[in-house]
Amino acid sequence: MDNQQITVIGAGTMGNGIAHVFLKAGFKVHLVDTNALQINKAIDTIAKNMYRQIAKGVYTPIEKETALKNLTTFSSIAEAVKNAFLVIEAATENADIKLKIFEQIDAHAPAGAILASNTSSISITKIAAVTKRPENVIGMHFMNPVPVMELVEIINGYATDASVTEKIVALTNQLNKVPCVVNDYPGFIANKILMPMINEAIYSLYEGIAGVTSIDSIMKLGMAHPMGPLQLADFIGLDVCLSILQTLQQGFGNNKYAPCPLLVNMVAAGKLGIKSGEGFYVYTAGSKDLVVSKRFAI
Ligand code: NAD
Repeated sequence: MDNQQITVIGAGTMGNGIAHVFLKAGFKVHLVDTNALQINKAIDTIAKNMYRQIAKGVYTPIEKETALKNLTTFSSIAEAVKNAFLVIEAATENADIKLKIFEQIDAHAPAGAILASNTSSISITKIAAVTKRPENVIGMHFMNPVPVMELVEIINGYATDASVTEKIVALTNQLNKVPCVVNDYPGFIANKILMPMINEAIYSLYEGIAGVTSIDSIMKLGMAHPMGPLQLADFIGLDVCLSILQTLQQGFGNNKYAPCPLLVNMVAAGKLGIKSGEGFYVYTAGSKDLVVSKRFAI
């Protein structure tokens, strides 16, 4: 087991950010994705974000090159995890996919390795139960965009050992992030509170109470939120929001979390927000303008 090498599973929005912050802290990072395009996109994004940090004086060009040399990419989990002291899963928010991934990680990672999930809402206890080391399984919920956001919500599963939590808290501090430890219930704290607000914003649009710009402006200017809830939903990914709401609804057996039919329709239509180019807003490469989707133009 190499105490300087971690593995990140999933090279999407969150996986590339998690890889970035560990590279920046001097770790060797193995990044795995089944989709080669996602790997290429992640390498590009990490390099671009590091370049931006050079401009801000966070990095020197030499530090950036050294950090990028510590990144190795893989298409299979078995090879990528075999020496890791920590594996962080950041794959698609789908319980079946995650359970299969954890079975694979458990079969190939070193005996003492800690296995973490970046899931937004899926039970850490359930994920841990498919491994032979539930005491070594924990939630490490980074926020988006990972290189910028300070919080990491640390989730103790039912069986997580206190020494594992201590190690992950110390490691989070080492990344210059702030750990907040919570217990394992659907949505944990961040999404149990955030998603009902986003869902209510989508309901308000669906019911015709206000348009996209008004809803977002009211929450930005009135509540001092840096981003309106609809823009935030686009940023997170509408598929991710839908999946979290379904987990909350099922997990608490409470229909107050039932996703708005408009959200369900948008995901079915492939309008996933920034990552697909359109959600409540449309996104054009190279443009920072916030343009409301024609679908919602009033
Ligand atoms: P994403 O769709 O951008 O990326 C998921 C990646 O996982 C894709 O590249 C996909 O190819 C890959 N993948 C799927 N199955 C795989 C497998 N078997 N092996 C390896 N790779 C596989 O999703 P995301 O937004 O990065 O979310 C990832 C996780 O992070 C989810 O659990 C999500 O809930 C959580 N999360 C997301 C946000 C957010 O704002 N998007 C914030 C916090 C946590």
